Amino acid sequence: MLVGGHVSTAGGLDKAYARGVELGCDAIQVFNQSPRAWRPTRYSDADFARMRELLERGPVRSVAIHAVYLINCASDDPEMREKSLTSLVHALRIGDGIGADGVVLHPGSRKQEDLEPALDRIGEALRHALQESERCPLLLENTAGAGGTIGRTFAELGAVIERAGGDDRLGVCLDCCHVLASGYDVRTAAGLGDAVDELEREVGLERLRCLHVNDSRAPLGSNRDRHARLPDGELGREGLAAFLSEPRFDGLPALLEGGDGAGADAEQVALARELREEGLAARSPA
Ligand SMILES: [Zn+2]
Ligand SMILES: [Zn+2]
Repeated sequence: MLVGGHVSTAGGLDKAYARGVELGCDAIQVFNQSPRAWRPTRYSDADFARMRELLERGPVRSVAIHAVYLINCASDDPEMREKSLTSLVHALRIGDGIGADGVVLHPGSRKQEDLEPALDRIGEALRHALQESERCPLLLENTAGAGGTIGRTFAELGAVIERAGGDDRLGVCLDCCHVLASGYDVRTAAGLGDAVDELEREVGLERLRCLHVNDSRAPLGSNRDRHARLPDGELGREGLAAFLSEPRFDGLPALLEGGDGAGADAEQVALARELREEGLAARSPA
């Protein structure tokens, strides 16, 4: 498992990389631009080459990009879909440039609209985004299930991937805070095991490419997305240790986003490693 977290790109991509090293990360996540605005950040080919060189050298070996929060590919407003698509393609092209392990995307919200046409709209947008970019994986993040957000169940994530044509570049980013909030009881290793079985059936584990490690201030099934610092939330030590030591997650980047997305810090990264050891010890036969 590549333990790491979200870092700021203030000052450039190489600064983000340096922050990851400072925090003791094996993997980092960055925003390709301000997540609450449409205005794209421009990077040069030299910026991309520098980032690829740094990743090759290590110790940070993996980078994921989190797409803009405003994107809603499910929207029935053509202008919103157009802006969303432009922003998503921009993120994927940066991902191509730096050799990212994926662009993480919230699948979208249907607001009060019907699910089926909303799924079709997302599927069409994702197909198009893949055509307009080369190789970077596009990872759909499971949601806490607030309002009309799509991706609150693994079946919904599977449906989006199917509507988008099932391309190999389509994958999933699993956020443990959102898993709990959306109603999967993953507070124990056994509960998590059942949820991962369901993910395997509905999506396929070969599509699971990335993990978000957040504790949850909101309880099981609350459908609210409120990140807590590890281990101060509803998952607690046991739930987080189980998530970080699930054998089917081996080798994946496990990224801390911090309380309400504030970013990772060194103490939390170290604690995540400690919780992983705790989980592994609890799983190994005495
Ligand atoms: Zn997340
Ligand atoms: Zn969240």
